[in-house]
Amino acid sequence: MKRDKYVKLMQARVGQTVAEWSAQPAVAEQELHRFFHNLKGTGGTLGLAEVELYSGEQERSFAPDGGRMIGRLEWERHVGPLLRMFQGMPQELPSDRKQTVFEQNVAAGAAEGSNRVLLIDDDIEFVAYLKEVLEKHDYPVSIALDAERGLKLFYDWKPDLILLDIILPDRSGMEVLPQMVEKAKQELIPILMISADGSADNQIRAYRMGATDFLAKPFSTELLLALTANRLAMKRDWQRSIIVDELTGAYNRKHFNVMVRQGIDDYNRNGAPFTLVLIDLDHFKKVNDTYGHLKGDEVLQAFVATAKRSIRKQNILCRYGGEEFALLLPGCGTADAVLIVEDMREGFNSLRFQSGGESFRVTFSSGLAGLHEANKHPEKLVDEADQALYSAKRSGRDRSVVYAQGISAAGQEAVINVVVVDDDPLMRELILDQFSQWKPAAGKRVSAFAYPDGTAFLASGWYREGEKYIVLLDGAMPELDGFEVLDRLRAGFPEQHVWVVMLTARSQKADIVHALQKGADDYVVKPFDMQELFLRIERLANRI
Ligand code: GH3
Ligand code: MG
Ligand code: MG
Repeated sequence: MKRDKYVKLMQARVGQTVAEWSAQPAVAEQELHRFFHNLKGTGGTLGLAEVELYSGEQERSFAPDGGRMIGRLEWERHVGPLLRMFQGMPQELPSDRKQTVFEQNVAAGAAEGSNRVLLIDDDIEFVAYLKEVLEKHDYPVSIALDAERGLKLFYDWKPDLILLDIILPDRSGMEVLPQMVEKAKQELIPILMISADGSADNQIRAYRMGATDFLAKPFSTELLLALTANRLAMKRDWQRSIIVDELTGAYNRKHFNVMVRQGIDDYNRNGAPFTLVLIDLDHFKKVNDTYGHLKGDEVLQAFVATAKRSIRKQNILCRYGGEEFALLLPGCGTADAVLIVEDMREGFNSLRFQSGGESFRVTFSSGLAGLHEANKHPEKLVDEADQALYSAKRSGRDRSVVYAQGISAAGQEAVINVVVVDDDPLMRELILDQFSQWKPAAGKRVSAFAYPDGTAFLASGWYREGEKYIVLLDGAMPELDGFEVLDRLRAGFPEQHVWVVMLTARSQKADIVHALQKGADDYVVKPFDMQELFLRIERLANRI
């Protein structure tokens, strides 16, 4: 199995090389030498005696430093027999292998594999040897003999690990290092400095500049292999940990964002279908309230575990937040997506959770949106799926709704924005906390926002056509006081969409009169009872 994989990798590499050569007028003699030289080693390692023998013979036809350019007819004569040897060897990876490889790629965000090593060193013998050793261990290797090429490969080829020599023909590795360190850190790419000067000073300098490790030449290949494997495993673990939600093992929001964009890119490139499903567990608060948060967590984990059984490897299940999940279905239109989601529903609904001798079940609602020309922006796509999800909730939960232009218009719920403008952070927090928990009557959706002062509020671009606002406005604020803000609200925005409740510490009747005259809808005198404020807002919201 393992050997098959290497053979397949080798075949792929040869195929790729031949394709590249075919696209150019001629191939450098050196390159042909290296090609056969490497194949000799790899073939031997894989026990492909025929390939090893043949490549060894061919290697001798080309000088290692030969400058001849070799035309297609000629190189094809040398390569042809090799390609024929590959026939009859395993052509395809077993399907489970393919899936695993695909998954790793997605997780690593890399184009292929996640163990590419870039060697930046001008000592040809040395790097050729390292390349051979590394490639024998299944690490794709690229070599740069100078700093400039090294930087270029760093950006274009996207290595997963870099071996950087200090003495290079054009620049010192110590100069190159700072140009790589930032990006390498962001992408968790380890940089291993190598140098014949293993002095403490040199090592200290390298570490201070951000090198991950320092290898003094000469070093054994065992050491190099152990270190490389160690650092790449670390990179993979880190990479995985930053895109996976700890509780459930689903991908996290960060990965969601990346993959939605990728779906849109694929659509733009080749019109590949893509469906986004937003999933929200029904009455989940009640699960927590009745059975406790630990039980709630268990339900979330069970949801992911069962959902994964219904999806294919290329589908991406993300925890979108709390008890909301997003399922990304590349290559899948909404009709197929519904089948997948309904299969998930069947699995999840059949689960029975146990708590203190009681048994209960949980359902979910889902909203689907397919990608097309008019919605190919992440926010737009999410918004459509979200509207479909709310439509599923409104129409009774435990169901899927596919976004269609009509649903929003027909059953459009009112969006009510509760806006707090108060310079007291505690007050903002209290009010936000109250309203983030609030479930208003059916057909209404509430969002809460806070601003520390009137200027920030007015400058924020807060107003959206078609939505309703309840503005809780502190009367006494530095700079622009609440009354001035109120003036501007009334002068610049439709009164029927913007309700204003003045929060005033001044219990003087005059202030209250002042506020009402300026067009406030209501007022509350500080200190006030949170519950009372909440009831007032609720009444107001129900009128909207
Ligand atoms: P609906 O059917 O309308 O979606 O009702 P709901 O109760 O599910 O909706 P709501 O959004 O009001 O409640 C979500 C709850 O999910 C509130 C929050 O305490 C809970 N929750 C969010 N994250 C977690 C978590 O990680 N673990 C647990 N146990 N509960 C969580
Ligand atoms: Mg929710
Ligand atoms: Mg819910």
